[in-house]
Amino acid sequence: MKRSDLVRGAALASKIPMYWAFRRYGHPVLSPLAMSFVVTDKCNSLCKTCNIGRRYLDDPSVANGELALEEYAALAKSIGSLEWVTFSGGEPFMRQDFPDVVVAVAEATRPRVINVPTNATLVRATVGGITKILERLGPTRLVVNVSLDGVGQDHDEVRGFRGNFASVGKTVDELRRLSDPRLVIGANTVISRFNVERAEGIFDFVLGELRPDSYVVELAQIRPEYFNQGESIAPDPARARAAIDAFLARSRRAERRGVPRWVRAFRSEYYHDVKRELDEARGHRCFSAFATCSVMPHGEVWSNTQRADVLGDVRDFSLDFQALWHGAKAAHARERIRSERCHCETSNVAYSNALMSPAVLSRVFGRWVLDA
Ligand code: SF4
Repeated sequence: MKRSDLVRGAALASKIPMYWAFRRYGHPVLSPLAMSFVVTDKCNSLCKTCNIGRRYLDDPSVANGELALEEYAALAKSIGSLEWVTFSGGEPFMRQDFPDVVVAVAEATRPRVINVPTNATLVRATVGGITKILERLGPTRLVVNVSLDGVGQDHDEVRGFRGNFASVGKTVDELRRLSDPRLVIGANTVISRFNVERAEGIFDFVLGELRPDSYVVELAQIRPEYFNQGESIAPDPARARAAIDAFLARSRRAERRGVPRWVRAFRSEYYHDVKRELDEARGHRCFSAFATCSVMPHGEVWSNTQRADVLGDVRDFSLDFQALWHGAKAAHARERIRSERCHCETSNVAYSNALMSPAVLSRVFGRWVLDA
């Protein structure tokens, strides 16, 4: 680990007790450590687990009035520094100014890691956009996560986009040719009732043939962000558990490139937590709206994309994030979160929650030692 990472890690660790106080007593009000920016509701896919694309293709006007580049730039200046940032959609590369949005937010918030999930349908826009971001990014690590929910025709069927499996391979090949040490090529599989029976074949393909630097598996989730409330997408719990076990056994052997040891330790804890939740649904002390939040395409700020407590709209605060974050609506949302235990397994949120929990941190440390 580099000396600068150690210094930054120590600074982060020193803030953790203050976040405990923030969550427990409501003060001091601290800025978030990590944020996600859902930059568009535009999408060109008809995935079986998500209705963003269906909604947009039915009525493209749903994407009218999304935050403009200048608004992101102004907003980011009022946030302060962040540890990690996710930019998602919809399909983020459907925004022509997406690289400029990433750079504007990164320049103001100086994150250690940026994560960009993509459906990898728009090969030229994706590779060109990533090239443009890297040219102006500085030392930040950029993780591009391509979605892969099946092998061959199966992927195209689950994602509702003919030719998507081929474009995933092409995107990965072309990104690899960029040969930039800051670029981490990731893959992401959502296990749902539509592919759980073929999960092991997907893992074998990704780890054995696609060979990304990083590979993440999530269970299909109902989220307001996906407009999929009321849909039946979850895999059978026993099959989901077996799929996670199969994934852990394989990825332990394969995932050694691109993913720092401490990230692997957090991930391993995350998967064990997902399994525990399948077994007994104990829930978590959630730090959404304390240590993380999500900025939605039209300016609302949510606790996260699953709970979706609304903390306010940045346009009502003249793009001053701190005014919103210190406002009454945000405080009210925090009271609600404080009084509940949450059951979402959104990985971004799970990592922030893990960082804030001494019990989880000690388990992560144990996994870090064992992974040496
Ligand atoms: S999962 Fe991604 S690609 Fe699929 S419809 Fe939703 S936003 Fe679009």
